[in-house]
Amino acid sequence: MEFFDRPRSEFQYSGRHPLKEKEESKLAVKKRTKTYRLGIMGGTFNPIHYGHLVAAEQARSSFKLQEVVFVPSGIPPHKDVSHVIDPEHRYLITVLATAANPHFSVSRAEIDRKGPSFAIDTIKYFLDLYKARNPDVYFITGMDAVMEILSWKRPDRIMKLCTIIAATRPGYNKERLRKVLGPENFKAVKTLQVSALAISSTDIRLRVAAGLPIKYLLPDSVENYIEKNGLYIDREV
Ligand code: ATP
Ligand code: MG
Repeated sequence: MEFFDRPRSEFQYSGRHPLKEKEESKLAVKKRTKTYRLGIMGGTFNPIHYGHLVAAEQARSSFKLQEVVFVPSGIPPHKDVSHVIDPEHRYLITVLATAANPHFSVSRAEIDRKGPSFAIDTIKYFLDLYKARNPDVYFITGMDAVMEILSWKRPDRIMKLCTIIAATRPGYNKERLRKVLGPENFKAVKTLQVSALAISSTDIRLRVAAGLPIKYLLPDSVENYIEKNGLYIDREV
């Protein structure tokens, strides 16, 4: 397994006496500063599509993440839920879509948690779950989602506990994000240019309901699962 060290500057205030520091073997220092770079990709995934997968993969590569865990939401706190299909279906299609990527995993954390899914609870959950590996958490979002971060529960804590990655998404730009977040918050968010895919779950749901093709917007396995289970045919979008 690979490990990536944090920049040295982040460890200059170790609280150790300089002589003690010298006594430590190089190996011990290396071990102490090792971090596990974990990406968290949250979403409703209703359904999951190539826009999600490209954003997660390009964030993984740009930020040298060792793993990206996809976390399908339970009850989304910011959405009208009438059109959101059963969490078990969303969990399964997320597994199908990510199965071939060795760096991707899927968590049931939000699906199994009672009550609304808040990002802050999920971030704390993963910090605790991975604590033995000294996790460095990156929360991956699209630019539209990060625009709303100030309305999330405890945005201040979220920004302290992890690094927010805002992936570009057609129709949204950095300038708008800077205005919405303000200069201080904007500085804390890492914007990431990803291959532009004008794909959304809303559009896919509309297309299924209208009998239009969804092929090449999402993995074949997910398309087949939607068809087999008759999902989105007569749902409100
Ligand atoms: P809906 O239309 O139902 O809102 P969605 O396509 O926006 O669905 P979500 O599950 O809401 O998908 O999104 C999960 C995360 O993925 C969000 O942070 C969102 O910004 C990001 N995302 C979704 N689609 C894209 C895309 N095409 N490019 C980049 N990021 C995306
Ligand atoms: Mg969305």
